[in-house]
Formats: sequence, structure tokens, C-alpha cells
Amino acid sequence: MTLAAPYKMAASPLPNDQHPLLSSSVHSPLPQAFPVMCHWRRVRNNYKRCGHYVDQPDEMIQCDDRYCKFSTSHPRNCVPPRCTETCWQYRQFPEQYNPVIDAFCPICVQLGRS
Ligand SMILES: [Zn+2]
Ligand SMILES: [Zn+2]
Ligand SMILES: [Zn+2]
Repeated sequence: MTLAAPYKMAASPLPNDQHPLLSSSVHSPLPQAFPVMCHWRRVRNNYKRCGHYVDQPDEMIQCDDRYCKFSTSHPRNCVPPRCTETCWQYRQFPEQYNPVIDAFCPICVQLGRS
């Protein structure tokens, strides 16, 4: 006779890069306090070797939420005044994104400082 396990044991190690504010529950992948809607992402590469920051073109982060005016899933027949009550009317605050790159920036590379 075998005992059927009701759930699988989580044996995989947990990633260490969880956001401290979101780490209250390790079981849900990303508990979000509010939905992530469309917003701009301001990318600024941080080149570790020379310490320079280089601005990148802004990225438009698109959601596919039906209740977002900017979403591709937003129905065309959802129009004000109803839309203003049910749907997100503004883009969210731009997100600052500073990836750290273990290299010299392109300018330093060009000037031969690498
Ligand atoms: Zn959206
Ligand atoms: Zn709408
Ligand atoms: Zn540099």
C-alpha cells in the first residue's frame, strides 16, 4: 500500500534576489500589492568598471490588463464615462531601472580606457 502525497515537496532552493518588501510569503511567485499597469521604464546602465551611468532609450512596458486604457486587451467599446470609472486612465510612475554591467561603458571603450 502506498501513501499518495497530497502535494509535491518543494525541493528547489529559493532565489536570493527577492525584493525585501515582497518576501513575506515565499510560496507565491510575486505577491503584488497593486497590479502593474503600463508604464515607462527609464533604463540607465551602470557600468561597474568605470562607474559611469549611460542613459538608454526609455522602454514602454505594456500590460495586457483589460482594465487598462493603454492595454491592447482593453475593449474598444469601453469608453468614458464608464471607462473612467472602471479602467486605469494613467500610466504608472516611470520605473527606474539601473542594471549593473560588469564592463566599461561604450565611451570609455571608445577612448581606449579599458
Ligand atoms: Zn496597461
Ligand atoms: Zn475602459
Ligand atoms: Zn565609462
